[in-house]
Amino acid sequence: MAVGVPSSLNFLVVGGGLGGALLALHLAEAGAQVELAGGPMSAGATGWSYGGVPWWGVGSDELGQLLATAPSHWHALQDRCGDLGVNSCNLWLHWSELDSSAAVAAARAALDALPQQPRLEHLSAEDLWSAEPLCQGAALGGAIQMPYLRVDPDGFQRGIDQALQRLGVTRLPPLDAASLSQRLEYVDAAVLCAGALSAPLLQQLDLPRPSVLRFSWAGVLQIERLQLTSKTIIMPLLGQRRQRQLADAGQALVLDPGICPGPGGGILIGQTSWFDQSLEHSPEPQAEQQRLMAAGQGLLPQLPSAACSAARLHQRPVAYTTDLLPLMGPLPECSKLHLFTGFSVAFVQAPVLAPLMAQALLTGDWKPLSCFGLLNR
Ligand SMILES: Cc1cc2nc3c(=O)[nH]c(=O)nc-3n(C[C@H](O)[C@H](O)[C@H](O)COP(=O)(O)OP(=O)(O)OC[C@H]3O[C@@H](n4cnc5c(N)ncnc54)[C@H](O)[C@@H]3O)c2cc1C
Repeated sequence: MAVGVPSSLNFLVVGGGLGGALLALHLAEAGAQVELAGGPMSAGATGWSYGGVPWWGVGSDELGQLLATAPSHWHALQDRCGDLGVNSCNLWLHWSELDSSAAVAAARAALDALPQQPRLEHLSAEDLWSAEPLCQGAALGGAIQMPYLRVDPDGFQRGIDQALQRLGVTRLPPLDAASLSQRLEYVDAAVLCAGALSAPLLQQLDLPRPSVLRFSWAGVLQIERLQLTSKTIIMPLLGQRRQRQLADAGQALVLDPGICPGPGGGILIGQTSWFDQSLEHSPEPQAEQQRLMAAGQGLLPQLPSAACSAARLHQRPVAYTTDLLPLMGPLPECSKLHLFTGFSVAFVQAPVLAPLMAQALLTGDWKPLSCFGLLNR
């Protein structure tokens, strides 16, 4: 939280997902006047996210050490704001009997070498079946269990809405480029936190898109009324999405079979990532639904068929960057307009970086962020 900052500064935050909501909170806590434009989190990626906080997966450099403090940021936020849907849980990184044993061994060795040294436990297929009855019979080779933190998107939306209201943050509907341009004239600064829609907004404002900014279309299936007994997040040990983002070339579709408690309850089955679709056209929904259902039934063979046929598909574009670092700070071509987007592990990065971003907006000192290589590039 910034101290000793004039409260007369006023900011416009565009986009009310994880990044925008946290930034608005920190600016308002420091005494600034804040307008937050945008719809509910379910309109963007945040509302359908697993909300997992892999604080141990961030590297050992200075930025990694900073990001590894994400759990304490979440707990401090929750202490200040009340319930934000933050809870401890376990992560199971599963592999299948068909996966290459060399690839599994290499991935397990990488987990053993994590600098934060989280507690790792090996679970056999039978352990998994008994901990999660819906898994019974799944053709799993095993899993590594790791400590995890999960932010439930529904709980986060409820808690942050109340906190923002208490702090006097003004809510506005989504803004088009023309309204944003007009508002730029009277605010001290505006920040684009519009996720995958940040790039088209920049284009409509005749501003260049940062060269590292990309998006993919994510798909998840939502099953209501059923719960996971284990309350665990299940993801593949050999997940491919991160490598695909980093390589900036390769397969059009990555399917990382995973399961997670749904927002506010139920179960989410994920996750597809499409890298070749335009923002205007989400991937064909019927085939996507079947693809995800097959992945879900592979992990949860005991899912009742009635639940499967009532499953609902959600497709959202998700922003990322090819160097997996978020984009922050003023745009060289329009210094009143800033970016806070392009997260790769948003639930680790956003709670740690939002206070630094707020501080820099309030003081005009961007050096702490430029040291980490996070300024717009
Ligand atoms: C299935 C799935 C699982 C995931 N799991 C994890 C995970 O476990 N851990 C993790 O760290 N990350 C995870 N992610 C990624 C994470 O959810 C996103 O990176 C994060 O939510 C992005 O937050 P954001 O605020 O930048 O963008 P968004 O949540 O997309 O928010 C942007 C908001 O801006 C709004 N907007 C757009 N244009 C305008 C406009 N013109 N005016 C006003 N508002 C506008 C949009 O409607 C949207 O609400 C997952 C994503 C998906 C889809």
